Formats: sequence, C-alpha cells, structure tokens
Amino acid sequence: MKATRKDGPRKSIFDESMEAFYRAADLIHLNPRVQLELEEPDFEHIFYITIETRDRLVPLTKEEEGHFKDLPASSVKAGEALEPLANGQLVLHRRALLKADFTLREGVIRIPKRGLFRIEKGAPKKFKAYRIQYNQVRGPYKGGVRYHKDVSLDLFKALAADMTWKTAIADIPFGGAKGGVRIDPSAYSKEELEHVTLRFIYKLKNLIGPYVDIPAPDVNTNPEIMAIMMRQFTDGARMPHAERGVVTGKDVRIGGSEGRAKATGQGTVYCLEEWARWRGESLAGKRVIVQGFGNVGTASAEILHAMGARIVGVMDAYGCVANEKGIDVPALLSHCGGPENLRRTIDGFPGASKVSRDDFWKLDAEIAIPAALGGAITGDVAEGLKVQVVAEAANGPTTSDGDQVLRDRKIDLIPDIICNAGGVTVSYYEWLQNLRMEHWTEAEVNNRLERAIKANYGIIHDISQDTPQKTPLYDSRRFAVGQKVDPRTAAMALALRRIEAHYLLEGFSQ
Ligand code: NAD
Repeated sequence: MKATRKDGPRKSIFDESMEAFYRAADLIHLNPRVQLELEEPDFEHIFYITIETRDRLVPLTKEEEGHFKDLPASSVKAGEALEPLANGQLVLHRRALLKADFTLREGVIRIPKRGLFRIEKGAPKKFKAYRIQYNQVRGPYKGGVRYHKDVSLDLFKALAADMTWKTAIADIPFGGAKGGVRIDPSAYSKEELEHVTLRFIYKLKNLIGPYVDIPAPDVNTNPEIMAIMMRQFTDGARMPHAERGVVTGKDVRIGGSEGRAKATGQGTVYCLEEWARWRGESLAGKRVIVQGFGNVGTASAEILHAMGARIVGVMDAYGCVANEKGIDVPALLSHCGGPENLRRTIDGFPGASKVSRDDFWKLDAEIAIPAALGGAITGDVAEGLKVQVVAEAANGPTTSDGDQVLRDRKIDLIPDIICNAGGVTVSYYEWLQNLRMEHWTEAEVNNRLERAIKANYGIIHDISQDTPQKTPLYDSRRFAVGQKVDPRTAAMALALRRIEAHYLLEGFSQ
C-alpha cells in the first residue's frame, strides 16, 4: 500500500515532523496496520494545574519612578529573602520582613541598589499541562518534560513521536512520550516551580512509573526538578527505593547516572567523530557554531573544545557572540554562571564580539550544531550556511524547507533522532542501574554510549549509502533498502524496521 500523507493548506508541526515517517514507510513498504498504529499517539493527556504564587516586587516604569523620587530606601536585613527573577521582578518571601525597616507609599518600596518596585499580591495561577504517550510496543513510554511558554499539543505530539523513533534507533527497550507545562519559568520562583512540578506529577501519578512511562529533563527542566518528581511519585510508597527509575536525569547522588548530564552533547560528538572518520578527517581544528547554550549546547561545546575544535560562534535566546580564533569555552561557562547573570546568558561575554542572528548562521565554520529549539534552520538560514555538516543536537531544528536546501546544497546532515540520542541512551543506563541498585563509573557509561551511538550511526550511514555490511560493531544487512537515501529517511527506516518487528512477531492485541 502506498503510504498516505496529510496534505493541507498549512502543515502543523506534527504533520511536518511526520514527513520523514511517511517517506520511510513508503520506502520500506511498512506493514499497513503498523503504519496505522504509528500515525497517531496512543494517549494524549491534557490537564490543568494550579498553584498559589508569592507576593512580588515589580519594577516601576521610568514614568512612574518620577512620582517616588523622595521615597526613602527600606532596609532589608534578610536580603536573600528577596529572590531575583530573570524577568527583573523580585519574589517577596515572608522572612524578608524579619528585622526589616520598610517605608511604603501607595504600595511602592525602594530597595537599596535595586530601585523602586510596586508590591503585587500573590494569586492563584492556572497552567495547561500535557503528557503525550505515543507508543509503547518496544517498552515503557519515555520522554522529556519541557517547561516553556510556547508549547502545544501539536508540538508535544511531534516530540513524542520523535522519542518513539529515537528509542528504536538507540535500540533501547523503551517507547516514546513527551510532555510539559505551558509556563515561562523565568517569571516564577524556585519554590513556585517546585509547586508546579509537584502538581504536575500528582496529576500524572497513575499514568507514569518505572515500567509505564519515565519522564526526563528537557528544555528548562533539570536534575533538581527530576528529584522533586521522584519524591512526589514515590511519596508514601511501600518501597520507594524500588521506584527510583520512574524518572531519569537525576542528580548522581540520588540515583542519577554518571555521564548523564553531558550525555546528549557527548552523543552528538560521537556522531561527529564518525562523520569526520568516514571523510578520513578528525575533529581537531574544525570550526564549530553552536546555537543554544543550555545543557546540550554547553556539553557539545565543552567536549569539542577539549578535543581541539574551535568554537567560533555561540547563540542563545538573548544574544550571539563570535570569535574566529575560537571562544574560550570554560571562560564562557564561567560568564554564564556568574552571580549577576540571572538569565545565564552568553550575552555580554567579553572574550568575543557581538554578531547579529543572521550573521551568526553565515559564520565561516565546518560544523553547525543547532542545540536550542525546533525550527531554527529554515530555508533562508540553510541558504546562508557555510558549513559542511549540520549536527541536529536539538529536536526538530530543521524545517522541511531547510531540509530541502541542505540536500540541494549537499550539506551533510546528522538527523536529530541519532544525533541527540545520547541523552535517552544514558537515561536507559540510569534506569538499569536503578533497577539493579548499581552505580557505574563515568568511563563505563561513556564506553557503552560510544559503542551504541557509533554502531547505530554506522547502520544509518550504510542504509543511506546502500552499503550493507557486517562489521565487528554492527550488522546493517537486515536494514538495507536497496537504494541510496538521505540520512533522515535512512534513520527513520531503521526505527520503523525495529518497531515493526515487535508488531509482526508479537502480533496485535485484540
Ligand atoms: P536548555 O533549556 O538547557 O537550553 C536551551 C538553550 O537554548 C538555552 O541556551 C536558550 O537560551 C537557548 N534558546 C532558547 N530559545 C532560543 C532562540 N530562540 N534562539 C537561540 N537560542 C535559544 O535545553 P537543553 O536541554 O539543552 O535542550 C536543547 C535542545 O536539545 C532541545 O531541542 C531539546 O529538546 C533537545 N534535547 C535535549 C536533551 C537533554 O538531555 N537535555 C536530549 C535530547 C534532545
């Protein structure tokens, strides 16, 4: 049967992300019933969570300030009880009142060294939350939790589908899921985000578990949030220690895996090493541009820098910097971690010059690593790229127009579903260590990860180049499609073959 594609006036993110699925399904003549099973998620959970926010100090506008010129400064002894937020507001914790000497006029207060603020009373707030469980034929649902203001059902469907393909490509016994909360985390305190996390897991308690669905960190979530999720899930359990595998990406001191924090970036670098090796080259001396300087971007940049590559440009949500001699990555990391740098941004880094977003993509380099959000490499961006390869560390960073331009311009592509599979692969190792009550060394984790990524990269390379072979590391003969195909379609063909085997051998439940 010829695979069908949904054509409409404007494609959704999900429809766009499924294009490679339909291409690969056509190519390998995917079993029609398997195709139906994989076209839509198993479950789409959409729900709401509420929290009570704390009182805030909101900066006055320039016009308002004039009216309070003569307002004396208040003295706040417990200064740390005024929690600064990245959006410029301060959260007013009650202990700030201890031994304080406050002067208020019309609800306005002057805080020494910070300026004039209006006190805004805390209020209940409601957030939309999602968990999309896409497919579990290969094992428990698995996928990250994103806290971001621009999330939607459509986006999470695309990301959950991506996880299904990725776990199959990584050949780990998991399915795919994704979820999160529509929230701008920069506008909330640590405690408020803890409450969001507690409510999120409270509502999901019956829908997740170490053998059911295993969340992990994604954009704006981290090991601290994973710890809160684990606590909430295991709270009151008869054997809480047996359920530590309910989330991955935890701190190593509470059951996280060594190497997990850098695993996604490390996986990207293993892919790039293979890409260079097939060309008879090495990564030392290669010039790299990195978009996104969070978990994945920093790890990729740090590892490549240590290997002798030159990071010549970095972009994040707030700015772009470039240095053709190579950015001192440890110095950039210290800049981002500085106590005054609440947005943790690269902006203002003294060791590089500022460049515009457009110029960033046109920098002279061999490697581009998009490691921020989806849709960054549009057709226009792809037209301007000077690089030889795009390594998709982010999920879905290239639009279909961008994809076409990369193909036309013969720029190599390492597709996201293998390029950023290092994170979920080490999540699997973390889950295994939790179930076995073991703790592996970083070297052990990285050895396994390297073999896994390089073996699956090799299979995708062979499908793409139509060179089926058996090597000491892998056997790609079973997956050949009899013609050369682009790497994204090749990766998808591998995923679909592995998923299809479960349906065909185990049968469909009735
Ligand atoms: P993060 O929140 O740690 O970092 C995101 C980075 O992207 C930040 O530096 C932010 O400033 C930047 N950014 C946001 N919007 C931007 C914009 N419009 N332009 C430029 N930069 C922008 O997130 P992360 O965990 O590093 O994830 C990054 C990407 O990698 C996401 O697509 C995520 O789905 C994917 N991913 C992450 C993991 C993981 O283990 N964390 C695993 C697989 C895939």
